[in-house]
Amino acid sequence: MGVEFDRVHKTFGHVRAVSDLTLEVREGEFLVLVGPSGCGKTTALRMVAGLEEPTSGDIRIDGRSVLGVEPRDRDIAMVFQSYALYPHMSVYDNLAFGMRQRKTPKAEIDQRIREVAEMLEIGHLLSRRPRELSGGQRQRVALGRAIARRPRVFLMDEPLSNLDAQLRLRTRAELSDLHRRLGTTLIYVTHDQVEAMTMGTRIAVMKDGVLQQVDTPQHIYDRPANTFVASFIGSPAMNLLRGDLVPGPGGARFAAAAIDIPVARPPLGSLPAPAVLGIRPEAFHRWPQAAPAPIAGPVVLVEPHGPDLYVTVDAAGQQVTARLDPAVDVRPGEVLGLVPAGDAFHWFDAETGRRLDAEPVPAELIRA
Ligand code: ATP
Repeated sequence: MGVEFDRVHKTFGHVRAVSDLTLEVREGEFLVLVGPSGCGKTTALRMVAGLEEPTSGDIRIDGRSVLGVEPRDRDIAMVFQSYALYPHMSVYDNLAFGMRQRKTPKAEIDQRIREVAEMLEIGHLLSRRPRELSGGQRQRVALGRAIARRPRVFLMDEPLSNLDAQLRLRTRAELSDLHRRLGTTLIYVTHDQVEAMTMGTRIAVMKDGVLQQVDTPQHIYDRPANTFVASFIGSPAMNLLRGDLVPGPGGARFAAAAIDIPVARPPLGSLPAPAVLGIRPEAFHRWPQAAPAPIAGPVVLVEPHGPDLYVTVDAAGQQVTARLDPAVDVRPGEVLGLVPAGDAFHWFDAETGRRLDAEPVPAELIRA
């Protein structure tokens, strides 16, 4: 079932947790709400669950407003970061709890628990108590409890953040697979852009309670709507260089101290004009010649990552990170020249941070 936020506002006293949120989560999709701490994503999720009521606006599940509907009558299942398992109950009873409350017949409860236990490989844990489980096992039980309920919508709030890095990686893949098999609408909250990129059918990026952009992971990566999204999605972050677009041979140049990049198709009509130029780290190459490089400066950081080498250059106060071939021999302190691929430019308005060549997008979706 789809979930719609229709001009939803939520304030706590003077804090605007969510501002004018309009967003349609389509039936069966895996929508990831992502943003930094405090951006309002948990509040948005809790309003779908019925744990908070919007200050204004409407929330619909399957086309029907759920305002005033009790959480237990919304037919949703939520998985929390803390798992929220009942410590005094066995895994079996934890899994059965929601179904018993809804007066599901005993035989059916038992069958569903066996199914879920097999799906999540927790059959051997059914008689244990939560404290006798590892973090990863607890997390599976919490997931199992949600799945066994067969809700119309799954809501998950940072369900992987208590797992160690390896287990998180594995569980990420399992969750995506589970979602494919179940086909149930899933809204997933995280501050981790890698989780968002790898799991979401679509990603909704939030900042300060305001939705910034909604799109598929690849579209967001390829065409971030503003400088916030550009720097939030992708790791290491997109470089955002401040400078001026000035007339130049064959088009224009983007110029700042220690930066002089030829631009064939400037995004602005009348030059000179200030602009922000976004370039992802993978778009750079080392400048081979002795001639002045488009970007040059002393190397301030060298980070080997196995297959990649991230090198940060200080271009007169603007730090530029490039992904280079690990075979490149660079040392901190030496001067390095960089050249970006010509088609790798993202242009943003110097004042508002909005993407300059963006297709028309509803104004409420693009605020810097
Ligand atoms: P995090 O990732 O840290 O959980 P978040 O993006 O989920 O952050 P929310 O928990 O939705 O953010 O909080 C959004 C804003 O609303 C924050 O400024 C927070 O302090 C505030 N807030 C949330 N719940 C309450 C509450 N019950 N009372 C007062 N303020 C609240």
